[in-house]
Amino acid sequence: MSGTDQQWMRRAIELARLCPTAPGAFSVGAVIVADGVEIATGYSRESDPKVHAEEAALDKLAADDPRLARATIYSTLEPCSERATKTRLPCTDRILRAGISRVVIAWREPATFVADCVGVEKLLQSGVDVTELPDLAQDAMEMNRHLDLS
Ligand SMILES: [Zn+2]
Repeated sequence: MSGTDQQWMRRAIELARLCPTAPGAFSVGAVIVADGVEIATGYSRESDPKVHAEEAALDKLAADDPRLARATIYSTLEPCSERATKTRLPCTDRILRAGISRVVIAWREPATFVADCVGVEKLLQSGVDVTELPDLAQDAMEMNRHLDLS
């Protein structure tokens, strides 16, 4: 019934391929899964030029959706811990506020735009279970080759 972490991450990678390419931003895909089924998806710039994948997915669910407490969010990239658009919460804060207790990522944010992303550290400090799937990191980076990933 329920897919494996690898399968859900492959789904998030498919979503990342849908992102309109932007010169100054990553292309990311996110899937929220609860009880073995997909309950929301999102990708970078899905609904507006600044929206992040995790945010786009969370915006599709009510803040008090009871499934969030037992949900896992799969994101191709480490959730951001700060963002240029100061009027919007970083995805790390959105995930914590939603009460999601498990996060699965494929690659960590490089220092392209933010010198030191601490999304994973912050999630771990708050008791969120974080799993990395390094086997899928290359696939998750593929649609970001136009950026400086050093
Ligand atoms: Zn973000």
